[in-house]
Parts: sequence; structure tokens; C-alpha cells
Amino acid sequence: MASKKTSSFCSFCGKPKEESNMLISGIEANICDACVEQASKIVEVELGGQNKKKKSDPDFKINLLKPADIKKHLDEYVIGQEQAKKVLSVSIYNHYKRLLNYQGDDDTEIEKSNVLMVGETGTGKTLLVRTLAKILKVPFCIADATVLTEAGYVGEDVESVISRLYQASDYDVDATQRGIVYIDEIDKIARKGDNPSISRDVSGEGVQQGLLKLLEGTIANIAPEGGRKHPDQKFVKIDTKNILFICGGAFSGIDKIIAKRLNTNAIGFNSAQQSNASLELIEQVAPSDLRSFGLIPEIIGRMPMITFLQPLDREALKNILIKPKNALIKQYVKLMEIEGIKLHFDKKAIELIVSKAVEFKLGARGLRTICEKLMLDVMYEAPSKSDKEVTITADMVVSKLADLDTKAA
Ligand code: ADP
Repeated sequence: MASKKTSSFCSFCGKPKEESNMLISGIEANICDACVEQASKIVEVELGGQNKKKKSDPDFKINLLKPADIKKHLDEYVIGQEQAKKVLSVSIYNHYKRLLNYQGDDDTEIEKSNVLMVGETGTGKTLLVRTLAKILKVPFCIADATVLTEAGYVGEDVESVISRLYQASDYDVDATQRGIVYIDEIDKIARKGDNPSISRDVSGEGVQQGLLKLLEGTIANIAPEGGRKHPDQKFVKIDTKNILFICGGAFSGIDKIIAKRLNTNAIGFNSAQQSNASLELIEQVAPSDLRSFGLIPEIIGRMPMITFLQPLDREALKNILIKPKNALIKQYVKLMEIEGIKLHFDKKAIELIVSKAVEFKLGARGLRTICEKLMLDVMYEAPSKSDKEVTITADMVVSKLADLDTKAA
């Protein structure tokens, strides 16, 4: 029974009732509001964020479309890249079908098919994966392989990738365990065989080994808040077995490796083969080329689906500018429309923008840089003007972009 004495003091910190905002009475003890708050923090840390874990749905539902329908959705946002779209649609479909139908069935185990995309920068690798995650409504995160290091080195260790996915899934362990991770610039952690150095080990093979564990399926220990880990903290355990990994990289120079391999197999060595555009060569990328490039065989083995993205030609760049659902031109028109202004682009102006993008050699990335520069003054001035119609002419493009070349160089 609470004595008179205990009823007016916090049994934890000893603070008298008059000095606290609130004193809650238990059977034989009291607790003040400050101690309640502190205790709650301790529980959160000790339980490793499990209390944040949302109630998960054991029969999880996913917006799973048939491969052809997934591709149709991709077509709305991504121009060209037919092969990559097909490969991704099929692997995503199989991956989630496997999760939906074969959970707990251990007779036939269907293995996960991670995907590797080879393609120059700005050809749509990230856009493809981002669009896929949006269609399927599954947690998704992008990680840059270049910032990853082996555990223990300064930098982000590979488990930080899972930590990011956990954050993206709003701290839902089950959702995290069936999310999609896009690992960009995987080519940058290729082993440079003839050039061993200390720094190489930090960002080379060691990182590949770390990533390999995630790809194969491991229990990753991550901080409850998804941030940096502290040694005396309880970790959230995430099983990476069913996380789909899609990796991408430019693999600059791989066309030469492919050409070399093809020439060895061909009879003789002729100039026609030599002049094979890298565009055609990249279509023939094979696991052995990736190995020659410096990826370890185990990691290549964990990415059984290899696909490529074509460099974007003039026509593709033009289409990217005007056709997708969120095409840049459509975005500017919409922005102006909100302002009550009708924005129009002359055909010639569009052609000139595309020409600049071709010069840039940054794929579709160049288009945004060009458009931002071109549109800055218009967006600055138009809202204050009485004129409610603006046309972007070829002359405007020429004058606004006159100094762009030097800046881009
Ligand atoms: P990557 O990951 O291959 O370097 P991104 O997917 O990040 O390239 O592309 C950069 C930007 O260029 C995207 O935001 C997108 O707007 C545009 N883009 C690139 N490729 C395409 C494409 N094939 N179709 C439509 N837009 C594209």
C-alpha cells in the first residue's frame, strides 16, 4: 500500500509532486512525467525500434501486373530501351510472383533473379527502376556503390543500403524485406587487377564481397532509426533474401572487351568488325565481359539477368523532351499553366535544344541542364508580365544558350 510519503514523490527520481508537472500513482510507487518520457526513450532504444514496426500484413498484397502490362506502364515514362524494359518487367513479375505464391513452400524453391543493367549515364537506368517501384508500390531506394566501403572503414558500409530501404519503407521490417534496391555505379567498384593499392581495397573487391552477401541473402543488422549504428544499441534484423537488387553502371570501355572477345571468335580480323558501333556491341554483353571488366564471378553469378541500355540518339532525345508523361516540356507548360500563362515551344526551338543535348554527350541528363538555362529568365519574368502567352522561339534558344558550351566543358 502506498504510504503518505511515497504518494508525493516520484519513486524513480525522487522529485516531489510540487516540482513535477504530473505524478502518476501505481500500486506501491509513483512516476513523474519526466521519468515517463525518459523511460519511453530507453524502451525505444532497447527494443531496437521494434515498437516503431508497423503491423504487417501476412498476406501482403501487391499491385502485381503481368509483364506486358508492366512494360506498358514503363513505356509511358521511358523512351526506347525495349530490351531493358522487357527484362525488368519479367524479372520483377517473377520475383513478386515467387513471393506471393511460394512463401513457405519448400518443395520447389524459385531463386531470386537480381538484374544488372549496363548503359551509359543518362540513358534511363535509374528512371526505369524508379518507375517500376512506383508502379508496384513497393519500398525502393537508390544507393551509390562508390560511397560504399567495407565495414570498419570510413564511409558507408554496405548494410547502410538496407538501412536506407528500411527508412524508405517507413520502418516496416516486412515491407523492407520485399523492397527493391537500385545500386548505381556498380562498375566503379570493379577490381583493378594490376593495380593493387590500399585505397583500392577499400572501394574495390572488399565492397563487392560485402554486396555479394546482401545479394545472396543475409541478416543485416541496422540501427533502429535507420541511421548510423552505435555499438551498445540493439539492432533491427533485416533478411535480405527477398529484396530485389537491381544494379547499374556505365561500364565505360566494356565495348572494347566485348569487341575483343567477338573478334577472337570470328574468323580473322576485319575493319568492318572493328568499326562495329559500341551500340551494337553492348547488346552482346556477356558475364565473361563483366568478369574481364573487374566484377568478381560470385557477384556476376548473383545477377543472372543482364541487360543493356542503348545510348540515346537524336530522335530518342527529342522524344524524351516531349513525349513521356512527365516530359520536361510538359512540366514547363504545366508550371506556366498554373500561373495562367500559355507556354508554347516552336518546332525549331525544340530541334535546337536537342542539338545542344547531342553536343553535351550526357544522355537525357543534358536536356534538363539546357532547359533550366533556357527557361530561367522566362520563369522569372513571365509571372509579373501582363502578357499571358509565351512562345519559346529558335532565336531565344540561340541567344540564351550561346555561352552554354564553355560552361559545360
Ligand atoms: P542513368 O541512371 O542511366 O544515369 P537516369 O535514369 O538518371 O540515367 O536519367 C536521367 C534523366 O534523364 C531522367 O530523370 C530522365 O528524365 C531522363 N531520361 C533518361 N533516359 C530516359 C529515357 N530513356 N526515357 C525518358 N527519359 C529519360
